[in-house]
Amino acid sequence: MSDCIFCKIISKEIPSSVVYEDDRILAFKDISLAAPVHVLIIPKQHISSVMDLNLEHVDLIGHIFLVGKKIARDLGVDSKGFRIVNNCGEDGGQTVGHIHFHLLGGRGLQWPPG
Ligand code: 5GP
Ligand code: ZN
Repeated sequence: MSDCIFCKIISKEIPSSVVYEDDRILAFKDISLAAPVHVLIIPKQHISSVMDLNLEHVDLIGHIFLVGKKIARDLGVDSKGFRIVNNCGEDGGQTVGHIHFHLLGGRGLQWPPG
């Protein structure tokens, strides 16, 4: 999508600090760190939110979580723990309309979130 900031990050039109990339997904450091480790994992296919997921995306979403596990290990937060979270819609706090999963770690995370 031409006006999507994350599609522009995928096409490298907007630079980012990439931590993982393959043919289906990209992971890069969040521009505004909410924790010492804060990575966004996104599909290269433009999907607006969880509400646009369907059965054809099941393998893709599973892949995102397995890559999240690898990134957690690579960035050294696997043993102490981390969180993978998705914000959906206005009340969920979603500000970018391209589905993304935050991987947060490197400090004790509060629950419930604000
Ligand atoms: P949301 O609030 O939609 O769940 O998360 C969007 C995230 O994207 C925010 O944490 C925000 O800091 C991050 N973000 C927004 N624009 C950019 C950008 O241009 N580059 C990077 N690396 N992160 C961005
Ligand atoms: Zn997009």
